[in-house]
Amino acid sequence: MSSVAPALEATTAALPRPGAGAPLSAMQAWVGQEVQAALRVQTRGLLAGDFREFAAAAQPGNKEVLAELQRRFRTLRSLQVTRFDQRIDAQPHALAKKGTWRAVHIVNHCFVETDCGIDEAVFDSLWAETPEGLRLTGFRQHDRNSPCWSCTSYGTRSLSRPWETTELAVRVGARTLVAVPVRYRDRLAELSRRAEKAAAVADRYRIGEPAVDRYRIFVADNASWRRWYAGRPGKWVAGRAIPTGAARIEVEVLESELTPDFTDELLTHELAHVATLRNDTYYGRSDVWFLVEGMADYVGQRRPGIDGYRKRYALGHLLRQRPLRSAGIAPPADDASLLDADGRYAVGFYAVSFLFERYGKQKTLQFFQGAVQYGIGLDGASQSAFGKPWATVDKACAAYIRSL
Ligand SMILES: [Zn+2]
Repeated sequence: MSSVAPALEATTAALPRPGAGAPLSAMQAWVGQEVQAALRVQTRGLLAGDFREFAAAAQPGNKEVLAELQRRFRTLRSLQVTRFDQRIDAQPHALAKKGTWRAVHIVNHCFVETDCGIDEAVFDSLWAETPEGLRLTGFRQHDRNSPCWSCTSYGTRSLSRPWETTELAVRVGARTLVAVPVRYRDRLAELSRRAEKAAAVADRYRIGEPAVDRYRIFVADNASWRRWYAGRPGKWVAGRAIPTGAARIEVEVLESELTPDFTDELLTHELAHVATLRNDTYYGRSDVWFLVEGMADYVGQRRPGIDGYRKRYALGHLLRQRPLRSAGIAPPADDASLLDADGRYAVGFYAVSFLFERYGKQKTLQFFQGAVQYGIGLDGASQSAFGKPWATVDKACAAYIRSL
């Protein structure tokens, strides 16, 4: 079947450019219209692999914006972008310098897959009025403290995506997409192979719908680690799983932590978060922290050829500090020592191990889904999965951990 969709530009009556001294509202309406039109062309160029079209709105002679557009174009093409729907949040903002503007982009995007759930990136672009029309002069990370009025999810406004700030090299496997800053390109083959192995383990512990289409892993260098997503991870953190949309969690891992001894453990732990946490609204809540991390460590221990749990050493330290009456231990502080952090993870790990041992995989995953994904509380989840109050199960859990 052949059909030609009419160009979007032709279906709306264009506002003429306002004259000098026009009110702000008239200027905003015109700038908004011009930016939207430019972004439609930009997206068309990106998806078609046509850089000239992608960069058509760039200010002529502005080398910085041209370099930035080239970097973004290469990176997004490497990520196999399949969707890049851009809209502007609210009105363009007039900047202090006369004739310059800032627009907030909301970009619903998708990589590799031809269809995926809503996933919105938020960043800013800068524009200048010129005799030839409005021209793009640069990009900026969106101010994490500014609201995003029309974002679908309140949380996305504060996240900077890796491809906004860093040129990436990418390898797509059957179950994973691994992206590294270009200077680590040589590590891609090894990391992709290890990521595929980790995905095969994590896939066995999937909780809830929809299925994970493909795990996305972004490898950060030290500078990116502070810049990507919400910045500022705790100092004991080696990787993070970050919800970016209702059904999407992206993984960020620190390159210096990807040593031969630790890579598989770290990747399996983070991919386990993706497999078990989608659709939840309770990720990061203190009361279920032990369950979330305990599950990820438990899945990490299901890798082939694993014996012995590495954080076992830290449990004694923690148990000597105070009597453990509940498995529901709080997360480590941002400045916690590795010993203290490992001890807390160990409590979660042994609690989850106890549940698998006592109640089996299906009921334990059901309990996790109730407590973490549905947020019905530990007791409600325990009643429905185990047929017992959480207080009873928790008491047995804590006694088991004390006996280790
Ligand atoms: Zn974790």
